[in-house]
Amino acid sequence: MELSKKRIVVKVGTSTITNENGGIDIKNIDHLCRAIAGVENMGYDVVLVSSGAIAVGANKMRLAQKPKELRLKQAAAAVGQCELMHLYDKLFSEYGRMVGQILLNSDDVEIPERKENLKNTFDALLENHIIPIVNENDSVSHVEIESDKKLFSDNDMLSAIVAIFCGASKLIILSDIDGLYDANPTTNPDAKLISRVENIDDDLRKLAEGSGSNRGTGGMITKLDAAELATSRGIDVLITQGHRPENLYDIIDKKKIGTLFVGK
Ligand code: GLU
Repeated sequence: MELSKKRIVVKVGTSTITNENGGIDIKNIDHLCRAIAGVENMGYDVVLVSSGAIAVGANKMRLAQKPKELRLKQAAAAVGQCELMHLYDKLFSEYGRMVGQILLNSDDVEIPERKENLKNTFDALLENHIIPIVNENDSVSHVEIESDKKLFSDNDMLSAIVAIFCGASKLIILSDIDGLYDANPTTNPDAKLISRVENIDDDLRKLAEGSGSNRGTGGMITKLDAAELATSRGIDVLITQGHRPENLYDIIDKKKIGTLFVGK
């Protein structure tokens, strides 16, 4: 499939849209929506893959901690997904943009008839400049939130699959780390950011082990898996800090931000 230079997928993790207390980081979500709307106004079509349903739901349900039991996680996802969409709809409306929700399970991207429907829906939304907001349908699936054989693993893999589906030329993964470092930056002050990766090999995977967020479910490894899949289809993947959503403008301007995994 031909890639569209104008189509971009942005993925945000739970750590970007919630704060240390588990509350919604309204300021950051606002900045994110504003930056995405700004990028859209420059002529791009953006798909937003957003995690955070479970954390936001648990907070709204006033649970003392993030739930461990599957049924409670799924209940929290049901509550949190509504809350998230309410916020996204409200904030994007303020910046003159329309949104649509797409919740997916692994079957939806594997069964040919569903794949076809999904692709058509993405195309119709994007052709009408509506921002699709995507998450796994956690309330009816446990693949994402529990299983060892995660297909979408913390939405990183989901974002790569969505980028392929939409024919996007760029996938931007916003996380709580500036990118991939040559050592663990939390324990090693001399760690240096790797700005460009042409090949994802075993040495790189070793570097990625152990890093990541405690509010989301994934780490750098799941991001490398997503980057490997997307770059193999020619898509450039960028991993950068989610607490500076304004970075999106610099990424569009091709400034050196985060870690770029070059599409093959
Ligand atoms: N789909 C999950 C959610 O929206 C992902 C959880 C995560 O890893 O951040 O809550």
